[in-house]
Formats: sequence, structure tokens, C-alpha cells
Amino acid sequence: VRKANRDFGLLRRGDRILVAVSGGKDSGNMLHVLDKMAKRIGNIELIPVFVDEGIKGYRDRAKRQALKLCKMHGLQLKVYSFRDNSGETLDEMIRARNKSRDGKFRGQKACSICGTLRKHILNRAASELGADKVAIGHTMDDVAQTFLMNVLRADIEGIARFSVASPGDSVEAGKAPRIRPLAYVPEEESALYAKIKRIPHLPKRCPYSVEAFRGLAEGFLNGAQKDYPAIKFSLLRACIALSKLLPQEANSAPWRKCGSCGAKAARTKCKACAITAKL
Ligand code: SF4
Repeated sequence: VRKANRDFGLLRRGDRILVAVSGGKDSGNMLHVLDKMAKRIGNIELIPVFVDEGIKGYRDRAKRQALKLCKMHGLQLKVYSFRDNSGETLDEMIRARNKSRDGKFRGQKACSICGTLRKHILNRAASELGADKVAIGHTMDDVAQTFLMNVLRADIEGIARFSVASPGDSVEAGKAPRIRPLAYVPEEESALYAKIKRIPHLPKRCPYSVEAFRGLAEGFLNGAQKDYPAIKFSLLRACIALSKLLPQEANSAPWRKCGSCGAKAARTKCKACAITAKL
């Protein structure tokens, strides 16, 4: 994490950082390490934020771990939810998708609805809480998987936009820059660290993860790593290098302002408001 901080200038005195905490090991480790670094650097405020998607038996249990973690660090956890933002939980949206005859969410994966709304809520929270950075607990495995998924989808804009420390406004107008302090940390080391440091977390996968495209990338990379141990690190390096080479690509789409929330949007409504409008 210190190397990522040196390479990308993640933390600066005076920062007010929203830390996305999910109750899982990676975001728990991230908060633990950032808290130590923030105290050493000085004059950095951390604001842990938990987004409750409404996944019964999973996120409610993870929330208890997140609260425990924040209490250990003397920080107050701010909770946002899909229900407060959109009127329904993810479970309710997926039930509607599975029953729907009128095509509501038909063919849409849970992770695509969830990821879009979560990102939207984190951006809203950052703006409401006056945070100037949003820290995400993506490990090296997550970065490598996302990069591979973007390649497989030919999502050049996604490749250009994804970085360890996004330049913020220049890429995504009006949004606090994302930082990924765990980008150099392999998943296995994150699991070990959580165990050694007794970081409160829920050691369980989301029940919807079986639907995720990410699972394909994860399976491929974990298999390939047996013969090519550096494959995830190579993808991380490629991701960092390409995101620097492709800035123009990211800005080339004709962006508009969402008519409902004012966020950057490819159409008249951003993706999150289009989901909410269907409910
Ligand atoms: Fe959301 Fe998918 Fe992650 Fe579950 S696995 S929390 S549905 S993005």
C-alpha cells in the first residue's frame, strides 16, 4: 500500500477520504491500513461508508462486521441503501426480474444493476459528505479481472478510465477521484492479512456472484496463474500503462448531464436513474 501511495500519490495532508467499506476482508484491510497511514501522515480524515444493497442473509451480516471494524478504529460508519436511493432492495429487483412478464430487468445480471447503483450512491455520498477522494478496496486480482473483462467486452473507454488513482474531474466530470490503495496487493495476501490482524469481516460470497461475468475472468486468471505466476501483475501493469496512453478515448464519447440527478450520462438519464425509473 505504501508503494501504491508513493507511485500514485494517493494520500495527501488535508484529504477527506470516503472509504467504501463492505464488511468483506479487502475493504476492512483497506480501512485498517489507511487509518494507520492517515495517522502517520496527519491531517487526513477518513469517512467509512457502507452501501446496503438489501441482500438478505449476506449484506445484513456483513454490516455487523463493518460496524465492529469502525468501532475498533473509533470511526462512525455512514450507511446508505438501495431502498433509500431507489425505493427497492436488490433482492426485490431480482425477484421482479425473475417474475417479470413485461421485461423489467429481463436479461440483466444482478451485478450489473448492483454495480451501477452502488457507484451512483458512492458518488452521491462523496458529494453529500464533502469527500475529495473515494477509496475502493480493489486488490490486484480485482484490477486484473476488470481489465480482462474490459478487453473481452472491447470496452476501450473502460480500459482508459480504470486506474489506481483516477484523475477525477478530468475523466468523470463532477465526481470525486477513485483511489485503489490495495491495487498491488494479491487477494491471497489480503486474506492472510485479515486473518493475522483479526480484521472483522464476513468470509462469505454474495449469493448473486454466481451470475457474474467476473467469475469467468477470476476462474481463468486463477487457473493461468499456476503456470504463469506473474499474470495478474502483468495485467495490472498493462492496465496502468494503457490508462495513461488512452486518455482521449475516455473523453471522446458525447457525454450529457442526467436529467434526473445531474450526473454524467451517455443518454438523457444516467444508468442508475434509468434503473430507478423502472421500479
Ligand atoms: Fe452486487 Fe454482484 Fe457484488 Fe453481489 S457480487 S454485491 S450482486 S456486484
